[in-house]
Amino acid sequence: NGGQPESNVDVLIIGAGPAGIMAAAWMARMGLKARIIDKRSTKVFCGQADGLNARSLEMLDSLGFGDRAWKEANHMIEICLWNPDENGIIRRSDRVPDTPVGLSRLQQSTLHQGRIERFFLDNIKKYSNGTIQVERGVLPESLEIEQSKVEDQGAYPVTVKLRFLTEEEAAPKQLGGSKVSDGLFRSNLFQEADEDALIKQTYERAGAGETVHAKYVIGCDGARSWTRTTLGFELEGEATDMIWGVMDVIPFTDFPDIRCRCAIHSATHGSLMSIPRENNLVRLYIQLVEVKPDASGRADRSKITPELIFNAAKRILDPYKIDYEVCDWWTAYQIGQRVGTNFDAHQRVFLAGDAVHTHSPKAGQGMNISMQDCYNLGWKLGLVCRGIAKPSILKTYQSERRRIARDLIEFDNRFARLFSGRPAKDILDAEGVSMDEFKEAFVQGNMFACGLSVNYGPSNLVLKPGDAGEQGDGSAVAPPAVTMSEADFDRKQALATGIPVGMCFNSFQVLNQSDGRPWQFQKRLPADGRFRVVLFAGNIHNTQQKKRVEAFCAKLDAPSSFLHRVVGNDGRDGLHSVVEILTIHSAKRWDTELLRDFPEVLRPFRRATGWSYDKVYVDDVSYHEGFGDAYTNYGVDKKRGCVVIVRPDQYVAWVGDLEDFDEVQAYFEGCLVLKEYTTGLHPYVAADVPEG
Ligand code: FAD
Repeated sequence: NGGQPESNVDVLIIGAGPAGIMAAAWMARMGLKARIIDKRSTKVFCGQADGLNARSLEMLDSLGFGDRAWKEANHMIEICLWNPDENGIIRRSDRVPDTPVGLSRLQQSTLHQGRIERFFLDNIKKYSNGTIQVERGVLPESLEIEQSKVEDQGAYPVTVKLRFLTEEEAAPKQLGGSKVSDGLFRSNLFQEADEDALIKQTYERAGAGETVHAKYVIGCDGARSWTRTTLGFELEGEATDMIWGVMDVIPFTDFPDIRCRCAIHSATHGSLMSIPRENNLVRLYIQLVEVKPDASGRADRSKITPELIFNAAKRILDPYKIDYEVCDWWTAYQIGQRVGTNFDAHQRVFLAGDAVHTHSPKAGQGMNISMQDCYNLGWKLGLVCRGIAKPSILKTYQSERRRIARDLIEFDNRFARLFSGRPAKDILDAEGVSMDEFKEAFVQGNMFACGLSVNYGPSNLVLKPGDAGEQGDGSAVAPPAVTMSEADFDRKQALATGIPVGMCFNSFQVLNQSDGRPWQFQKRLPADGRFRVVLFAGNIHNTQQKKRVEAFCAKLDAPSSFLHRVVGNDGRDGLHSVVEILTIHSAKRWDTELLRDFPEVLRPFRRATGWSYDKVYVDDVSYHEGFGDAYTNYGVDKKRGCVVIVRPDQYVAWVGDLEDFDEVQAYFEGCLVLKEYTTGLHPYVAADVPEG
């Protein structure tokens, strides 16, 4: 290796955009040895992505900093649709809620990428004790996978050679000499005080190199991904001839809906989308009907100026007036919709974010879906690296996320076409876009855009009927551990109609049994790498029901149960450390006692921390915050209850009856590494037997 230093790492992340830092957040949370590098060191950051959809906010909340984003962001409540009237003058034609009502406790908000990344960096620093920090000005030069070692869990089969850049190499110049920050090259993170030292340290090594041996690599290096190209994978799809400008300005305008999100179709001058943001800023996405690609299929970006873009906005908004003094950032782009052919190589090198899907930014999806890719991948890698889960779960990354990427492109394609099209003058105008069709697509699209329509297919992580499919390399995805017919599945799903298997566990308010404090139930599903079994215990004062609960708990607590055999649970003391059991009952809280009415496995005792008072909840009326009516909202029978398995990323893996313990056991046998059960003694008893 030419005398270069060498090092070993569990996971190397290439690229510190939204996808990369989400991956790093999981690595920090799960205690992995990980590094995250980025070639770029820009001293300022503004612009680029700024929309956080409801699901992304839920994810940030599960990581522990959703409140920071929620507090600072501008909340988008309403969308107004503006269309030309019979005289060709724009008029408000409709108002719709920005996030479909009832899907989430959080609503789409805007806050610029730099702040969101700041929250991530703080979180990563906290959970990794400062051991994971973005290393800037670092470029990977080669990547090799030693195929003979990919099946060996102890091996480091991926070798990446790194080079440390000089400051000049790492900070590209602004194009076009503009004084305003522009995004004609993709800028990135803030440089704040604590990062300066790190960058300096990097530059002190400038010109040097290092060879890193990694168990896993994640390529989060954006649309022109070096990792993807090095692996020889392609993006499929095409650029369109639709060209749009973007400006972040503080507008002076008499347009009445400037603080709502607006989709404005003018009669002849193109379309505009306005997005209200924090600090009175507004992002304008402006169609540039007069700019066309040349023979090469590409537009000449050097001819596009802020003046040209803003004049287009003025024409679209006419007769309303708009001007500005402050422009924070601007850019222009040509819409192109592409999806990667492969999302991983040998389940050792993974690609995420813009590296595997690109599309127009207007629908505000790029940052969200990029973060969501790594939210899906991070815990899987964490559990496999720690020997807790079987490596076969890694195949579900591609099977789950590639479909979402394809849906995204389809959605974006339809949305971009309807949005860039000229409004139809009347029903005979076949070339024009029907505004009714646009509204319908917009409302439907909103369901997708808020991130809550994701429904993962069958695999060893989601127990559903159907074919688990195959990977890009032709190998099969591990199938569900239980084969069930459609009818059987429907019967089980009917036990919890509001908790669809494959989708995200929605949140309703419940009360803590011990102290009566109201909790949004999703808050009890933090991103700490644990699976959860949620026991809807029903009315536990009914004798029959109590017996059912006790029978389920006896199986759960038996020495052969997965709960006692997962790797990483440290005997009785570590019960719930890999799979946590949470209970929601429907009896009256006042009639119920935690220690009297619930078997110990539901509220275990730990020598260090005493009884677990945070595991048992009740669907009852609170003193100050009303009634969550969780059983009704989740569609669960208040007498009989049901059981739900939830993955560490809050997706629902299985729903069944209290009598279906064998399926719960089979699920965990299918995806986790279980210690062999040999002694026949309860681990608790075994621990107390004197040696010899
Ligand atoms: P990127 O953010 O591109 O990050 C890639 C990182 O990798 C960069 O830091 C780069 O320096 C680094 N890198 C690249 N190559 C290498 C290499 N060889 N070695 C080391 N490091 C490397 N999305 C939304 O969700 N909502 C929005 O409102 C929105 N608006 C947008 C507006 C505009 C104008 C644009 C351009 C995009 C917008 N997006 C939006 C999209 C969003 O910015 C991207 O989808 C998102 O940033 C992708 O995240 P990523 O981590 O995959 O890639």
